[in-house]
Amino acid sequence: MHATAIPSIAAGSARPHSAPAGVIGRAHRAAAGVLVVDDDPVICDMVCTEARRLGMRADALTDARALNQHLSDGYGTIVLDLLMPEVDGIELLRSISALDHPRPRVIVMSGLTERVLESARTLGLDLGIRVSDVLHKPFRATELREVLVRALEPEASNDRSAGSAPLELTEAALAEALSRGELVMHFQPQQHIGSNAIAGAEALVRWNHPRHGLLAPAAFIALAESPRLVNAFTDTVMSAVIAAGARIFASGGYDGRLSVNVSPLGMNDLSLPDRLARACSSAGFPANRMVVEITETSISSDGVVALDILTRLRMKGVGLSIDDFGTGHSSLERLSIAPFDELKIDRHFIRKMQSDGTARALVSGAVRMAHDVGMQVVAEGVETPADYLAVQACGCDLVQGYLVSRPLPLDQFLDFIGRGSSGRA
Ligand code: C2E
Ligand code: MG
Ligand code: MG
Repeated sequence: MHATAIPSIAAGSARPHSAPAGVIGRAHRAAAGVLVVDDDPVICDMVCTEARRLGMRADALTDARALNQHLSDGYGTIVLDLLMPEVDGIELLRSISALDHPRPRVIVMSGLTERVLESARTLGLDLGIRVSDVLHKPFRATELREVLVRALEPEASNDRSAGSAPLELTEAALAEALSRGELVMHFQPQQHIGSNAIAGAEALVRWNHPRHGLLAPAAFIALAESPRLVNAFTDTVMSAVIAAGARIFASGGYDGRLSVNVSPLGMNDLSLPDRLARACSSAGFPANRMVVEITETSISSDGVVALDILTRLRMKGVGLSIDDFGTGHSSLERLSIAPFDELKIDRHFIRKMQSDGTARALVSGAVRMAHDVGMQVVAEGVETPADYLAVQACGCDLVQGYLVSRPLPLDQFLDFIGRGSSGRA
């Protein structure tokens, strides 16, 4: 395969190439054009071919200097090599950030180390660009396909970097949804590594929207965190989880814990521990079966109110879990200030472990540290048997992820635990 085989708009034809007849399945796919920018024609060809197989319009640029002329051509996704002879990918990220909305998504790829790729991704996000994925070269066709498929997924409506809010969700609509009981909880099992027993579950909120169907939290969590809504939202979620928890425990097939996410902004109300304990006791749900997950960014030594809340929750028996560990800015000091008993390693780290020895070493170190201070470790986003083996080798205690189960509506979750671990294996 060589350069002439590539539909390079830089090479003269500025007309986009259409997907082969019969491939385009859905109109939005055709609209979701992909522009590949890489000085390596073989890579351009590989990405274009795969994108067209998925029914996307795909073009390539082997001379990155021409990108500016094509930025306004309506590509939904730009697949960008970081290291090119004339101009590098970071400079191009800056050009993309100067575009009006809606800006294309970017997939960053490179043969440089994972850490460089991740800093490029962070930089892109800081510039307000949606960097949907990073691709480490050499990559397999299956990996390429996965990131292209993800690039086809519709944007979450609260993703400001995408510049579009197709669902037009508003704070007022969410406030109404709270009062109409449209928020529902799904439950994702956590499996103990080794015994395969279901030792926990995480409650994850969804909005059962009358017109748009079931919405994931990414579509509305920012609205829920507005100062006017955050306490009502937290209370609604807590009540739903406690009511579901009471049913789950009454079913008799479960003796694990049940985790609930609390927004950092919801950690401002000193009455939270008392309200939670009262609600647990009136529902007959033991508080020591509940775990509150908060992200590491919400923990800080100057957050006196948050520390007050966390300490009193723990005193009432509620478990405390650090969510998305590895994505924020942790310090040992930050982690030592509150009585956490669980650490959840973020799925981006789990995904990186396959290809990145640094990530594996960091996870092993975090697990050792957590165990030394008496915390258990949950690996999030475990999707494949290879992920499972990797987190097992690092000493994680529990796995949560699609490999075990997707988040399930309550009835299905009850079926799942009712089947027992042998029936599931
Ligand atoms: P999180 O707490 O880290 O939850 C895990 C997310 O990862 C969930 O997304 C879950 O569906 C997804 N996930 C689980 N296993 C896999 C896997 O194997 N692969 C992949 N790709 N993803 C997996 P979800 O439900 O969309 O929730 C996203 C985030 O929204 C949560 O992240 C949490 O930060 C927030 N959230 C969810 N429910 C609540 C809630 O009730 N209250 C608050 N304040 N935030 C919530
Ligand atoms: Mg969580
Ligand atoms: Mg998490």
